[in-house]
Amino acid sequence: MKRPPIYLDYNATAPCDPRVVESMLPYFNQRFGNTASADHRYGWQAKDAVEDARGQVAQLIGARAKRIVFTSGATESVNLALKGLAEAMQGRGDHIITCTTEHRAVLDTCAYLETKGFRVTYLDVDGQGRLSLEELEEAITRQTVCIAIMYANNETGVIHPINAIGTLARKHHVPFFCDATQAVGKVAVNVETDCIDFLALSAHKLYGPQGVGALFVGGQTRDMEIVPRQHGGHHEGGLRSGTLNVPGIVGLGQAAVLCQAELSEEGERLRNMRDRLEQTLAGQVPGIRVNGGGDRLPHVSNLLLPHGHAEQLLLGLAPYLAMSRGSACSGLVQRPSHVLKGMGLSDAEADRCIRISLGRFTRPEEVEEAAARIAQAIAALEPVEGK
Ligand SMILES: *Cc1c(COP(=O)(O)O)cnc(C)c1O
Repeated sequence: MKRPPIYLDYNATAPCDPRVVESMLPYFNQRFGNTASADHRYGWQAKDAVEDARGQVAQLIGARAKRIVFTSGATESVNLALKGLAEAMQGRGDHIITCTTEHRAVLDTCAYLETKGFRVTYLDVDGQGRLSLEELEEAITRQTVCIAIMYANNETGVIHPINAIGTLARKHHVPFFCDATQAVGKVAVNVETDCIDFLALSAHKLYGPQGVGALFVGGQTRDMEIVPRQHGGHHEGGLRSGTLNVPGIVGLGQAAVLCQAELSEEGERLRNMRDRLEQTLAGQVPGIRVNGGGDRLPHVSNLLLPHGHAEQLLLGLAPYLAMSRGSACSGLVQRPSHVLKGMGLSDAEADRCIRISLGRFTRPEEVEEAAARIAQAIAALEPVEGK
């Protein structure tokens, strides 16, 4: 049988860790109870398992367990936080601050809120993907109900100065929502020391199952209430009704435990491989450039090719390597990355970028093979006239 392509798209989704799968299995057909069944052991077991997972997820981000709300993933967590906050704050303010390089989940939710009368400030970033704290502070008004800035960018891995942003938000008494989907489990995230009021995370980005995630709801003050989007059986403290995905939540909990235990060692290993990959390509491909600077996630590399088209390159390499042009979430829409354009790249340049994201199961020899194949493929592509 033909060998499957080497997986280098961990930012789109990560395979479940086998230890996560194992932890989930009993909850499909042995401990299959509904957490809301208060009258028998099946229900109690399910509830205990969910509460254990809540503690595990909370611990990974330095939160208290009762502040964790389980959802179907980061997109839902983002929607619940932003729309929930906006509705709760209606009448008190109508202004949201975010950034041009946020994930679609945040940008599209903000665009929706604009149709409901909210005003949104989209902060620009520099060529390295970094935003200005001065511009952020200047944008804050008495009407600002939320600052929504991601922890680390999914396309470039650029990490924002979260503690500084959180501190600013506190100073001005504005709730700080952080989409930390790419950062949680990869770098040390702590809602207390980072001054984060709301945080979204997703299991499938940290070796847990797809379709489950969480929202951290801080509630520093009474101003930070959110209005639920989904009503029903008053699950999750009324913030997210509906029978819980118990196997998925157990898997998320186990994934959190593993990430916490292995985070620093794994980060080091991935950073070494990523740096080697970038060095090898820099040596073999004249004119290749890394997109994004400063603090970056250890496992991500976004590269601007000197010529050719990313789509063409990725298609040619698809039998051997699974990489991407950027966000999987805008992958169906053939438009240049808003993140790279936000960093000042032209449409043509954004068309020449590929994202490589490594993960727990990536081996050094795979990265070496990838570097060699990429260098070879770029050399084979006809240089195009002009830029
Ligand atoms: C993947 C991702 C999301 C969406 O997460 P889902 O759980 O797939 O809904 C949101 N934000 C960022 C930064 C992501 O990387």
